[in-house]
Amino acid sequence: MPEGDTIHHAANRIRPVLAGREPSEILTPQPRHRPGRWPERLGGRVVESVDAHGKHLFLRFAGGLTLHSHLRMTGSWGVYAAGARWRRSPRRAWLILRCEDAEVVQFDGPVLELLSEDRVRVDPRLAGLGPDVIGPDFEEPLFLRRLREGDPTRPIGDALLDQRTLAGIGNLWKAESCFAAGVDPWRRTGEVPDAEALAIVAFAREQMAVSARDGFTARPRAVYRRGGEPCPRCGTQIRRRGQWEDNRLTFWCPGCQR
Ligand SMILES: [Zn+2]
Repeated sequence: MPEGDTIHHAANRIRPVLAGREPSEILTPQPRHRPGRWPERLGGRVVESVDAHGKHLFLRFAGGLTLHSHLRMTGSWGVYAAGARWRRSPRRAWLILRCEDAEVVQFDGPVLELLSEDRVRVDPRLAGLGPDVIGPDFEEPLFLRRLREGDPTRPIGDALLDQRTLAGIGNLWKAESCFAAGVDPWRRTGEVPDAEALAIVAFAREQMAVSARDGFTARPRAVYRRGGEPCPRCGTQIRRRGQWEDNRLTFWCPGCQR
């Protein structure tokens, strides 16, 4: 599943292809996007920047128009040399941006919209996002303030998935970061001291930055999807149970996470 590192990795691959350039062709093959006339509205405009914030990706065009994408569980971005075979079927492409030597494709993206920069600034889904866990301007005090504003009885694992508290963490990074910091993801947030909350985030920041640079094969896998296996730290059997609103599985070691 795409988490913040996946989106930053995509942005890092798209940026050298598109930033500062005017795409030679823009296509929106899905019928639902035809009324938006994006090729006409974006044609002739330079891509000024390619930014990620948490799990959101923004392609900012000259003139204050921004393509906003969120992949949820199913979407992906691809960057290909011109003419190379795509990893998914062309029928699943939502957006194709071509330059002379490369093409950028979004597949199966459940959220893909063209917004004005003003709208990006006030849209509650975007304006309310917490600090980006991988962002260069991540501020610990802001994260702690958002964390303490939330319900102190909710488990820390839930709080980490709340994108208003911290943007970019998904199920894998929640499980692995709590494990690395020795914190039980079920412990109430109010009973997790600042130092431990920051230790969880420090691990996520450091490791997600590696994965954003090198790709998902660089992700740690100590407990995630290892339910029933022995803990690599203490040998206790790793447990799994559904957590958060859509009951996504969390993984933890009851022996060494407190
Ligand atoms: Zn353990």
